[in-house]
Amino acid sequence: MSYKKSWAEPYKIKMVELIKMTTRKDRLKAIKVAGYNTFLLRSEDVYIDLLTDSGTNAMSDIQWGAFMTGDEAYAGSKSFFKMEAAIQKYYGYKYIIPTHQGRGAENILSKVLIKNGDIIPGNMYFTTTRLHQELAGGIFKDVIIEEAHDPLNEHPFKGNVDIQKLHQLVQEYGSAKIPYISVATNVNMAGGQPISMANLRELYAYTRQHGIRIIHDMTRVAENAYFIQKRETGYAHKSIAEIVKEICSYTDGATMSAKKDALVNIGGFLATNEWDVYEEARNLVVVYEGLHTYGGLAGRDMEAIAIGIQESLDDNHQHARVGQVEYLGHKMMEYGIPIVKPIGGHGIFVDAKSFLPHLTQDQYPAQALAAEIYLDSGVRAMERGVVSAGRNENGDNYYPNLELVRLTIPRRVYTQAHMDVVAESVASVFQKRKTIKGLKMVYEPKYLRFFQARFEKL
Ligand SMILES: *Cc1c(COP(=O)(O)O)cnc(C)c1O
Repeated sequence: MSYKKSWAEPYKIKMVELIKMTTRKDRLKAIKVAGYNTFLLRSEDVYIDLLTDSGTNAMSDIQWGAFMTGDEAYAGSKSFFKMEAAIQKYYGYKYIIPTHQGRGAENILSKVLIKNGDIIPGNMYFTTTRLHQELAGGIFKDVIIEEAHDPLNEHPFKGNVDIQKLHQLVQEYGSAKIPYISVATNVNMAGGQPISMANLRELYAYTRQHGIRIIHDMTRVAENAYFIQKRETGYAHKSIAEIVKEICSYTDGATMSAKKDALVNIGGFLATNEWDVYEEARNLVVVYEGLHTYGGLAGRDMEAIAIGIQESLDDNHQHARVGQVEYLGHKMMEYGIPIVKPIGGHGIFVDAKSFLPHLTQDQYPAQALAAEIYLDSGVRAMERGVVSAGRNENGDNYYPNLELVRLTIPRRVYTQAHMDVVAESVASVFQKRKTIKGLKMVYEPKYLRFFQARFEKL
């Protein structure tokens, strides 16, 4: 007889943060004040905060220790050179520019590489990434495989690029109009779904023939590497670190939000292997972020990133990280809750269309469901559907196939017992799903409306 071998966290808890318990009455008041937008809640009114895994990580004692050694010099900080060395060593990129977070890097990169009217293919859009491409004059085109738009399709690599779709764009617009393809690892908007090494290798070969760069949105590269290790032939015995290095080797540059995989609370960077691109970006970073050796970060932040990168590539860390997400996902499936499959790397994505089939997409089913989950238990999730998708340049709503509520798990923060509470809460909302009403939008900001939009109950 063989015994089950559970994963467990490769760390122990040294310090705790107390959280406030609220009543349903408190929460009803809070969600109304927040205009039914979980982004507008006060965090002190939240019990288990699964809004995002961005900047919500718990740092290690080693990272906190390094905080005290941060070199706060304006120029040429020692801490910058540590961060630069870590990125070069673990990711293999040549030239590095720190930025205050991922979108700072996206802004600069888009300004450097995109000319008015350029086409920017990508394996599904990301909110800030696409907006910076559009603000720089580019037009985003989705080239992810069709399976990614189907929440029930169990394709193991739903982050893959459909190279045929890319080829059609090359034929239609010509490769001179396509400065780069934006390739995200562990595609956030598809539900935290990985791209395979085989697909990336093939894409690399294709883009070499056509003179198109691959720019890597590497925010969740370590989680992607975990799935390659688990699912792709030939990678079972390679370490996460080796796989990450290989992924990066098939790309020409990267933007990174260190607030995710790299286990810090703030920071990001832009990386490139091209001197010209680096030179231009180094010019621009001074305008938008700060000098090229700090880019809006404190020395202590850069220290913590250098260590966080290394910790994120530890196999045991990554197994526990995704193990916890899978634990929550399986619990929810046991309750019959419709979620995106396969279970992704950074959270559980509830399919709001099949959870609330009586609502049309104009009634914001995912937004309404996120508000309802908060009301039930104080668990904070977020909308990833028609509100997040925003409007196109003509002012029309994008209507994405995927209308999702994302329960995102911060790294090293919550316990398995917290996951049980979350699953039970979503299950209780599922039981009374027929009584849930839709919303109407009563305030809509011009950019990235999901952050600040306000709603009322229909
Ligand atoms: C978070 C994120 C970004 C933007 O990074 P910020 O640090 O939030 O500015 C870009 N791409 C992806 C895939 C992300 O998840």
